[in-house]
Amino acid sequence: MFDSQTSVEPERETTNWAMYGAEDAVALLQRDVENNNFNRSYIITGPEAVGKRTLATRFAQAIFSPNGKQNNSYSIYDAIEKEDFGDVQWIRIGGDCKPQNGAPVKPHTHPDTTIGVCQIRKMSVDMNNKSFNGTHKVFIVDSVDDLSRGDEQPFSALLKQLEEPPPNTTILLLSANPENLSLTIRSRCQLVKIPAMSRDLLTDAILKSNLTEDIQSAKKYATISKGCYGLAYMQLSDPAYEITLNSILEDIENLAGAGSQDRMEYSERLGKAWRNEPEIVLETLNIWKAWWREALQIATNVISIELSTFHNKSDSQLTSQIALRALTALEEAENNLQVNVNARLALDMMMIDIPQLSNTH
Ligand SMILES: [Zn+2]
Repeated sequence: MFDSQTSVEPERETTNWAMYGAEDAVALLQRDVENNNFNRSYIITGPEAVGKRTLATRFAQAIFSPNGKQNNSYSIYDAIEKEDFGDVQWIRIGGDCKPQNGAPVKPHTHPDTTIGVCQIRKMSVDMNNKSFNGTHKVFIVDSVDDLSRGDEQPFSALLKQLEEPPPNTTILLLSANPENLSLTIRSRCQLVKIPAMSRDLLTDAILKSNLTEDIQSAKKYATISKGCYGLAYMQLSDPAYEITLNSILEDIENLAGAGSQDRMEYSERLGKAWRNEPEIVLETLNIWKAWWREALQIATNVISIELSTFHNKSDSQLTSQIALRALTALEEAENNLQVNVNARLALDMMMIDIPQLSNTH
């Protein structure tokens, strides 16, 4: 229906939607596109930055531009990629609301921490308007985890749409934490899961997609991004990240064998950073966890020192109990920070609770 008259061959890469580690999810959605038999709604789940947004984009592209990229002056495929295609709407935190004439609400700016109920209601208005292409409409809630918790309104508005969307309407809910959604919402949607990849598979994917040619570096990023291709992609595309990463890893190694004074200086530094750049502190803790997870794997003989990414010599002090204690301390600090416990206190406790290794580093 959107085929142009040109004879341009579709590009090969679009056939697998160029996604790593999401084979089952892609197969499921591709089958629905091929059969032209869509569920009314899907819930795309998987950890943060695993590729949920990319999958939703590829799905919409397959619906509206089944032959992939086309070399036309106007390409639907590209328009969807740029989120500039009227029949594919993204519902996200923020932005301005411009109600149509006669609507009972005034123009306003949306809250910057949650998706407002009016955004969900507007979705239903748009659903019932004619589509620009006269065929299909796709609405993507990115993410449904951002609907205001403890407020029933947006959820019941959403549920109403999931129950009776107009024909030729597809709703995609993206979620990293689907278990937080009510069963009534989940049961209305086809579940599409993108799992995290194993370290070896992600290492392969990073090398295949030429994000780096260095095997050791590919392995390092596969470990840090916890199997999420999207995360590895973002990190490897940012040259500044490598510098930050290496300096954090250096700190971790030095502090593993350090005494309390050095450790308290470090937690003071992190505590200060928390005020202005909390996301950097959380990322730092993530890297600490990756380091200690690997220590645990070494202590339990899951991987050898030779194959490890962060550890280059064995440490007689390292046991699985010690690694577990460190991981627990890191988890606790992360939880405390997220519930607004005094940051300095949470980080001091963490540095005290992480066991000291022998001072050979
Ligand atoms: Zn609004």
